[in-house]
Amino acid sequence: LLMAYDPARRLARLQVQMERAVVNARMIYEILDIEPHQRDKPDAKPLAITQATIEFRDVSFSYANGGKSILNGVSFIAEGGRTTALVGPSGAGKSTVISLIPRFYDPAAGQILIDGQDIANVTKQSLRNNLAYVSQQPYLFEGTIRDNIRYGRPEASDAEVEEAARLAYAHDFILDQPQGYETPVGENGVTLSGGQRQRLSIARALVRNAPILLLDEATSALDTESEQAVQKALDHAMSGRTVVVIAHRLSTVVNADKIIVMQNGTVAEEGTHDVLAVRTDGLYARLHNLQAPGAPVQENEKEAGK
Ligand code: ADP
Ligand code: MG
Repeated sequence: LLMAYDPARRLARLQVQMERAVVNARMIYEILDIEPHQRDKPDAKPLAITQATIEFRDVSFSYANGGKSILNGVSFIAEGGRTTALVGPSGAGKSTVISLIPRFYDPAAGQILIDGQDIANVTKQSLRNNLAYVSQQPYLFEGTIRDNIRYGRPEASDAEVEEAARLAYAHDFILDQPQGYETPVGENGVTLSGGQRQRLSIARALVRNAPILLLDEATSALDTESEQAVQKALDHAMSGRTVVVIAHRLSTVVNADKIIVMQNGTVAEEGTHDVLAVRTDGLYARLHNLQAPGAPVQENEKEAGK
């Protein structure tokens, strides 16, 4: 069993799985130790975390060299220990912003700083050790439930895996599975509901115990019970951490310490819900007014972005 956590073997297994299915890179970057594109600079230093404050300073980005510009001079600060929500129309660049933080891609211009250190100048390992990521569509690997949580931190003990599962409100449904924590999931395993998969993904993030949490909230309508369990799990995951969340649910947005409203690769507005909601000509107010309380922001956002 221990050999299953050997990094080279894990990577090999992962590659096999990636070949089998076309997997969006973002789905698998939940696993932050995948061999990255970018090499460390020769003089790269380990990231030293104090407050875990993240700053985007005039960041521009395009996916292809000389290709369509996706981010244009994006600046904002995600304060340490606080929750910063990214909202805005589909295609505005929210997921792209998040994917720059683990250096899945590098900006074309500008800097991203964590506690004043440009992340381009730190070792990627130290950067990623301080990050946890929960994607919109949680990815489950072939393997047991225990393996799937432990992917978050291969050296985690069984007790730590189970503690993370408890905090993620996953422990009880795991025990209900035919073989508990040893139940196989993934292509050849048991089928889990969307809410259960999400909670496993949250447990995987929690077992990392990282100071920074990057979170792409699910848009899919979970049933009410699942939704409540996922929300409780997220509350645990978010407490005491720096959280950057792509927020689809109004409750997340309203409770955020800061809201960044994105449109066409720029920051259109920034503030708290109370401030932004009363700006009747603002994009946020339009996004907000279009929906009933509790409805996902995403639903009407295409329309609202016009
Ligand atoms: P959001 O999360 O706000 O919906 P994204 O960051 O996913 O927006 O996308 C912003 C823009 O970047 C969109 O025009 C999208 O088509 C484009 N884009 C996203 N991912 C890629 C990619 N891997 N390669 C090329 N273009 C991409
Ligand atoms: Mg997105």
